[in-house]
Amino acid sequence: MAGVIVFAEQHGGEIHPVSFELLSKGREVADRLGVELYSVLLGYNVKNIASELIYYGADRVYVFDNPLLEVFDPVRYKHIIASLAIRKKPELILFGATPLGRSLAPRVAVALNTGLTADCIDIRVDEEGDIVQVRPAFTGNIIAYIKTRTRPVIATVRYRVMKPPRRDLERRGEIIVEEAEVLEDTGIKVLKKVRDKEVRLADSEIIVACGRGLRRPEDIRMIEELARLLGGEVGASRPLVDEGWISRDHQIGFSGNVVKPRLYIACGISGSPQHLAGMRDSEVIVAINIDPSAPIFRVSDYGVIGDLYEVIPKLIEKLRSMGRG
Ligand SMILES: Cc1cc2nc3c(=O)[nH]c(=O)nc-3n(C[C@H](O)[C@H](O)[C@H](O)COP(=O)(O)OP(=O)(O)OC[C@H]3O[C@@H](n4cnc5c(N)ncnc54)[C@H](O)[C@@H]3O)c2cc1C
Repeated sequence: MAGVIVFAEQHGGEIHPVSFELLSKGREVADRLGVELYSVLLGYNVKNIASELIYYGADRVYVFDNPLLEVFDPVRYKHIIASLAIRKKPELILFGATPLGRSLAPRVAVALNTGLTADCIDIRVDEEGDIVQVRPAFTGNIIAYIKTRTRPVIATVRYRVMKPPRRDLERRGEIIVEEAEVLEDTGIKVLKKVRDKEVRLADSEIIVACGRGLRRPEDIRMIEELARLLGGEVGASRPLVDEGWISRDHQIGFSGNVVKPRLYIACGISGSPQHLAGMRDSEVIVAINIDPSAPIFRVSDYGVIGDLYEVIPKLIEKLRSMGRG
């Protein structure tokens, strides 16, 4: 057996759109290799969404439906995916480079004693029929083309870097509901589910991001208010996340989210290469910084040289006077 497997990430019965992008890429790779494209879906009461994976390109969907799989447990999920891979012997397994995918893929790679390439922006097949994983390296200054000697090749792929997938309702495939050994005790116990406000920065059209120019964690409220009035989301540079001022979902940059909004407002962010790697493709970039030599001004379309504690309250006041919020 051989094939390409795409891990279908779902949350509460809703498939993460990165999985459709992966299926579209997986289809391309499977066709070049002349193998089948499988998708693997884990969860509880998820059988009814399996056909979506066929519409986006899968030939066969393996569904593991069990109450114990309702909440993501990386060890339990790893065990099932690794067992499936041992049986199917795929050439390639793809995961989204989401927080869930980033936590699951390395565990599967270790279980299968193979390599992992994280944060790919493309997957190709070269003339010799080898799988080539493409990812930025050295904070995006070079593009690395990586081949893995061991099989399966495992990669996480960033969300929204592939061309938009096509949904074809005419496609037919097979849905196989599998009975699997689901580990009872993995040592992980979910004590309480706390629902944070969901942030999908990669989908946001407007982002107001803050950096170390902020003096206190509570000042993020000012950034939130500006984002709210503009109908956008709040982003942050890594130091604010590392300090625990804001959750990791808000981080923009090389080791965070890569975003391409229509408007990006950088407040008190210097513009390090690692930060720019996550936002330099934004359509319009506005920077507010007291230091006229801050590198962020080199990539910005509009620059405000000034203290964010003076500029942002004025912007908020202006937007309110225009009847926004
Ligand atoms: C492997 C690795 C991965 C990394 N990944 C990321 C990543 O994903 N994302 C990321 O952001 N960083 C990342 N970093 C960290 C990165 O190198 C920088 O340290 C970070 O981006 C700096 O954040 P900053 O711009 O908020 O802070 P600083 O560089 O300290 O800049 C603060 C800016 O605020 C301005 N300022 C100060 N006061 C005011 C004021 N009152 N009004 C207006 N402006 C003001 C200053 O002039 C300055 O330009 C990574 C680093 C490494 C080594």
